Amino acid sequence: MKSIIVWFRQDLRLSDNPALAHGAKSGLPIVCLYVLDDETPGDWKMGDASQWWLHHSLAALDASLRKKGGGVTLRRGNAAKIIKALMRETGADSIAWNRCYEPFAVARDAALKTELTEQGIAVTTCNGSLLAEPWEITTQSGTPFKVYTPFWKALRARPEPDAPLRTPAKINFHADVKSDALKDWTLLPAKPDWSKGFDWTPGEKAAHDALHDFLGHIGGYGTARDIPGVDGTSRLSPHLHFGEISPRQVWHAVRDHNHTQGADKFLGEIGWREFNHQLLFHHPHLPNSAYDERFAKMKWRQSDKDFTAWTHGQTGVPIVDAGMRQLWQTGWMHNRVRMIVASFLIKHLLIDWRKGQRWFWDTLVDADLPNNAANWQWVAGSGADAAPFFRIFNPVLQGQKFDPTGTYVRRFVPELASLPDKFIHRPWEATVPPADYPTPIVDLAVGRDRALAAFRALPRR
Ligand SMILES: Cc1cc2nc3c(=O)[nH]c(=O)nc-3n(C[C@H](O)[C@H](O)[C@H](O)COP(=O)(O)OP(=O)(O)OC[C@H]3O[C@@H](n4cnc5c(N)ncnc54)[C@H](O)[C@@H]3O)c2cc1C
Repeated sequence: MKSIIVWFRQDLRLSDNPALAHGAKSGLPIVCLYVLDDETPGDWKMGDASQWWLHHSLAALDASLRKKGGGVTLRRGNAAKIIKALMRETGADSIAWNRCYEPFAVARDAALKTELTEQGIAVTTCNGSLLAEPWEITTQSGTPFKVYTPFWKALRARPEPDAPLRTPAKINFHADVKSDALKDWTLLPAKPDWSKGFDWTPGEKAAHDALHDFLGHIGGYGTARDIPGVDGTSRLSPHLHFGEISPRQVWHAVRDHNHTQGADKFLGEIGWREFNHQLLFHHPHLPNSAYDERFAKMKWRQSDKDFTAWTHGQTGVPIVDAGMRQLWQTGWMHNRVRMIVASFLIKHLLIDWRKGQRWFWDTLVDADLPNNAANWQWVAGSGADAAPFFRIFNPVLQGQKFDPTGTYVRRFVPELASLPDKFIHRPWEATVPPADYPTPIVDLAVGRDRALAAFRALPRR
């Protein structure tokens, strides 16, 4: 009997899921498949915090599919091989998936599509993750944009994205397809369980709840988004990465809600996500080498000691340590603080941005290849439309500006909790510096000058 495989990837949702909608519309029995493919990504296998998210997100997806009378079929291994075997096993003669944009996924999917099509299998691929495909928004001469603002202007000049698709009313499931047990994948940490501080609920419903909560205060987003001590942002990033909610759903919910400045600013951030996806698509080396080739000559410092202090939140610079501890405890870090900790690593410590990118990859629940690579390169000054290298964040001034009373620092660095506001971002100047908190591992002025000298040594354009 004919059937169709719907291959779930970064689209762990039932609503506004074009591949699932296609499968449901076909009326054929559907195998809802998820493959844990550790082989294809090579160096970019999913990090530990992302695996935690994946476990819970798959459990939520399975529960939603069960309510519809079926469930998710789990298989582990090389996705292309597994799909070909599953087609034989189930007699499926068609497959649908929503596109992914990591270079390894693009290569795998293209080869698989060609092979299956040659065998007479109907392959349907859809856009379920972006407002626009990376090849759709180009300059007037047809080349990809290198600068964000005109890119976003061009995207916004297009007609509104289509209305999101509803959850299929009826899904006709293929019976009797064997599945791995999710717990056997051991995606969750055991000893030690470092996820105790993860204050997240993965899954499609939680994603919509988060969006709904955020819409209640979107008007203040323009200023609140920079204050790490308040919940001023949407915290949608892991939900968007795993596709528990689509950007199209976010877009329409925001537009229907109201049309404040906060809303425009917020949609602009969704725009950065789009921009970074098209950057990676057109520059697949982005996570591995500098977009601006002059930076290949950068003389990075090798210091395991400094790098370890940074990862452990023990640099002696409060806002940096608060950020790194928030990351470790919750699997997420506020955007303003991501910029500060990245700048500190790359500039004050002169450590290669790729090392920081790797650490984020392993520890963020929203680790996302395009967003992570493009933002690290943005801070490094080597990316497309990047901050100039010589603009070096002073972490003390950043702390004083965006966390003036130290709400954020006190939460994550309890050793400093009783310091007066005046010294919260420079405890080394307090009359009695806290004994259990380190002094800065680098003199900020010396680190800054060293970074500027390294930058000046790069070849000129
Ligand atoms: C060094 C560094 C590394 C980063 N790594 C990642 C990463 O791996 N994954 C990731 O999703 N984001 C990354 N970001 C971007 C940003 O910090 C997060 O998307 C944001 O903090 C998520 O919180 P939020 O959902 O509350 O954001 P909101 O402010 O509510 O923004 C809404 C959405 O817009 C998108 N967005 C916001 N800011 C950016 C941005 N600067 N670039 C691209 N998209 C953005 C995200 O999808 C986010 O969920 C990184 C930023 C820096 C500086």
